[in-house]
Amino acid sequence: MWNPALETMDRGALRELQVDRFREQVRHVYEHSPFYREKLDAAGIDPDDIRTYADVREVPTTKKGELREAQGSGPFPYGDLLAVGPAEVTEYHQTSGTTGEPVRQADSWGDWEWWSDCWASVLWAQGIRPDDRVFFPFSYNVFVAFWAAHYACERIGAEVVPGGNLSSAQRVRKMREVDVTAFASTPTYALRLAEVAREEGFEPSDFAVERIVCAGEPGASVPGTKARIEEAWDAAVYDHAGATEAGAWGFSCDGESVGLHLNEAQFLIEVLDEDGEPVDPGETGEIVITPLNRTAQPYIRFELRDEIGLRDGRDVCDCGRTFRFAEGGVLGRLDDLTKVNGVLLAPTAIEDVVRSYGGVSDEYEVIIDGHDEKGDLDVVTVVTEENPGTGVPAAEASEELRKRLKQTTSITCRVDVVPYESLDRPELKADRLDDRREDHV
Ligand SMILES: [Zn+2]
Repeated sequence: MWNPALETMDRGALRELQVDRFREQVRHVYEHSPFYREKLDAAGIDPDDIRTYADVREVPTTKKGELREAQGSGPFPYGDLLAVGPAEVTEYHQTSGTTGEPVRQADSWGDWEWWSDCWASVLWAQGIRPDDRVFFPFSYNVFVAFWAAHYACERIGAEVVPGGNLSSAQRVRKMREVDVTAFASTPTYALRLAEVAREEGFEPSDFAVERIVCAGEPGASVPGTKARIEEAWDAAVYDHAGATEAGAWGFSCDGESVGLHLNEAQFLIEVLDEDGEPVDPGETGEIVITPLNRTAQPYIRFELRDEIGLRDGRDVCDCGRTFRFAEGGVLGRLDDLTKVNGVLLAPTAIEDVVRSYGGVSDEYEVIIDGHDEKGDLDVVTVVTEENPGTGVPAAEASEELRKRLKQTTSITCRVDVVPYESLDRPELKADRLDDRREDHV
């Protein structure tokens, strides 16, 4: 383990540590961030009153919309959220803005060291060691993406090969040329790189790659997607969850478990039901997260909008970590869950069905239309491609997938199987859901 003392800490001691650090975070933002001073005063919170875990829930949560508002006014560019002097900021990043205006994120050098320490826990748990040569095939730009993972590799002592400003073809050639032993990417792009490798005349499973660290999408905990990536590269595939506002908060390990250990040494992670009450192990809930060691632009009880199935980590995994566990990874972003004809649909459920069936390619998209011919039912169309590897005819693949989707999601879908390479090939996160219903926001 990267930090055995913290990762195997007794639960009681860990809870105490979390409450102490939470109180210090609240005190820090109360004293330095005008946004939080106002918010905490309005709620009547005195940082010194936070003494127990139950006291944490007295503190108001922070919503994404509030961050945008706070940056829309106040000093440019971070608004009233900044909790250090502007000269202390060393890193600029911003959220992707898929659900609205991007939020600008400031980090100090101390924050950045904390970020890479969190990522070092992730990478070490997934078997990255000083003798590894790790490739980073992503665009190094304003999005935090794998930036901190790059620094974490250096911290571990592994060798970093930055694959930023290269085409996908150049990237696979570089991976082959220098024999990288691991790479980090979204699940979507791990599949895409395997496809490009074949286009370039290589067999990806012949590469020296032994480990693939996935993040940005839940795919590495979706069994059908994980199996496809593992098979394509003949490598172990690991999952990681993080967010620009939170940090690198969850990771799968080298054990048999499927899902994420929650890094409770660096984050206070609450898993709450619709009424804001903590759920028990075995139940699902929404994550409300507080990074415990961040100073420049920290958040208190941030509503992450990720849903997980909570478990006691010691029941699920034998690696020895005492952290709680998200079984099956992030089950869905609450923003992505949608109702179709009254049935709740999680996009990852469709992903697993499509990727578990070998008769179609890795690519697919889901279109939801507001009306069928009669005008009153939602129509879900899954568009995917023929698989040149297995050669299953389009009509047969379409019928088989339709049956499997009905069985798993209880939703009757139309399935269009189009010729191979008809669909776009995304380079970072894929936007696979196209909801065309009028009342959809
Ligand atoms: Zn484990």
